[in-house]
Amino acid sequence: MKIGMYGGTFDPPHLGHMLAAKWAKELLSLDKLIVIPTRTPPHKELDDCSASPEARLEMARLVALAIEPTGSVTVSDCELCREGKSYTADTVEELFRQYPEDELWVVMGSDMFLTFEQWQEPERICALAGVCGFTRAPGEAVAPLKEQAKRLQERYGAKTAVLSLPEDVNVSSTEIRELLERGDNTALSKLLWSPVYGYILRHSLYGMQVDLKHLTDEQLRAVSYSMMLPKRIPHVQGTEEEAVKLAKLWGADVKNARRAAILHDCTKYYSVDEHMALCERYDIPLDPIEKGSEKLFHAKTGAALACHLFGEPEEVQAAIYYHTTGKGNMTTLEKILYLADYMEPHRDFPGVERLRELAYVDLDAAVALGCEMSIEEMKEKGRPVHPNTQAALDSLRR
Ligand code: ATP
Repeated sequence: MKIGMYGGTFDPPHLGHMLAAKWAKELLSLDKLIVIPTRTPPHKELDDCSASPEARLEMARLVALAIEPTGSVTVSDCELCREGKSYTADTVEELFRQYPEDELWVVMGSDMFLTFEQWQEPERICALAGVCGFTRAPGEAVAPLKEQAKRLQERYGAKTAVLSLPEDVNVSSTEIRELLERGDNTALSKLLWSPVYGYILRHSLYGMQVDLKHLTDEQLRAVSYSMMLPKRIPHVQGTEEEAVKLAKLWGADVKNARRAAILHDCTKYYSVDEHMALCERYDIPLDPIEKGSEKLFHAKTGAALACHLFGEPEEVQAAIYYHTTGKGNMTTLEKILYLADYMEPHRDFPGVERLRELAYVDLDAAVALGCEMSIEEMKEKGRPVHPNTQAALDSLRR
């Protein structure tokens, strides 16, 4: 196996890091790329307002999943677990012990590659791994990198590679921290992956004073996305798109429809313990069917966070609360979120087209059809039907 290690401070990880990792993995034909956040960088001082090593690790995890959801890009905490300065030579040795049969590569941007001789024990690194330098700014010349590669071959017998990345973003984490300080959201949205920005907001990193109860739509999106696996984001985006269209057509509050859709799955990936902790904290009752079905927890805990963490109005909370089961006598917004979640453009199951047509002609008939489909599905799977779904259907039929 060909394994790359991509180390850095990642304070915070930005789109430049993401693109570099994606292209380095592809151009070097790596089977696996391990992103390794540094605990104490040997070559620079961390800012006073830097994020903690644990937060940098979590942000790197969000980015790794986005680069390659299949798991061939992973994040390692090996440098965070080591005391003292984080020398790459020690990390390479650790990786070599872990993967003795494999071909190791250390990949880095041109700034690091051109100063490689000043690193701690470069010869120890070159003895165990290839060294790959890539361009990190648009139009950056490769000639100096090639000359450096030659020097490293002559001096350390290094195995080297030089890559000119087909896509690049001219940004550094230092610039990102400055933009965060200035609150320049427009620039940030082009340089940071949305869930990373959301993570920063949620944890008030880099000295930001964030009031989670007064987030803009864009910030709310980022925060919500930061709480889920990247693979769920397209579904949430589709639900928002659909909920807004339905709200415009059926005369519901568009802002509330949008925000309910953005938050409806925000606790979807919480563990059972995390759901239970929220239920206890906010006194959320779970009925016997809910207790037996983890899939139903997130509607209730999501509604609780919409209320207590994000300060959303009752209408939004209720739409989230009932978005999985429905209920008797639903409000227009509750019907809209229920349906939008069911039939957003990424959903693909027999009958979804009929649901999509009906939703724009007869809202109640569409919700009733959704309830019937859910009841049918539960029966087929031998699972109990939630009484709220039956109540929704009964009230719509009446
Ligand atoms: P800082 O501004 O705090 O020094 P940085 O943006 O240079 O941070 P690091 O975490 O120190 O980021 O960099 C980790 C690795 O990512 C290095 O090998 C660096 O060359 C590379 N890198 C950083 N920014 C980019 C970018 N925009 N494009 C490609 N590679 C990058």
